[in-house]
Amino acid sequence: MQDNSVPGDLRGAVVSCHLERPLDDAAWARFDALRRRFEVLALIRPPDAAHGEDEGRWLERARTLPLLGLHTHWTSPTHARPSGDADPADRVRSECAWMRERGLEPRWFCGGGWYTDDGVRAAVQQLGLVDCTPRDGLPRDGVLPTTHSLGQLARSVLWRLPPYVHAYFHDYDLSDVRRRLALTSSLQVLRMRRAAYDASSPIRKSHGTR
Ligand SMILES: [Zn+2]
Repeated sequence: MQDNSVPGDLRGAVVSCHLERPLDDAAWARFDALRRRFEVLALIRPPDAAHGEDEGRWLERARTLPLLGLHTHWTSPTHARPSGDADPADRVRSECAWMRERGLEPRWFCGGGWYTDDGVRAAVQQLGLVDCTPRDGLPRDGVLPTTHSLGQLARSVLWRLPPYVHAYFHDYDLSDVRRRLALTSSLQVLRMRRAAYDASSPIRKSHGTR
């Protein structure tokens, strides 16, 4: 597994959230509370000025996120995939540049609606982002595939999960009480699994730590 793509504590079990509504106060508050309890990659959709979204408040919130990634929507806040003639790779480059100009350094990328193409993949690689858009396979250079939805994770039992799990959810999933409870119990299971993984790690054993 790539050391630069997975924060130390996430090895064996990665969790990411697609922040679709970072300007929605209730959605933000719920995500903010959750990410303080569990390590979650925050794949955030930049503000869309063409749709009147407030850049100032967005920046305030994004700057508090320690594990920051880019989630690109090509058409609108609610329409993720590309629909016009514009080159999708240009949008990825310009959103990443916009964030960097404001002192934010996204480390991961996930295409909205799981969209990608050769140009987008090349741009993501050139920008040095780790791509979470692929839906299967193992972590490899510059790629951290997203393997499980919230529902799949909740239905899986611990011993049936493969060695590598990358589960994702949306910020709006947290507004539903049942989904929120399912998610937090799944995250607790993943945390236990990570602890077991750490305890069995030959490197940790040889160093006698934990
Ligand atoms: Zn999205």
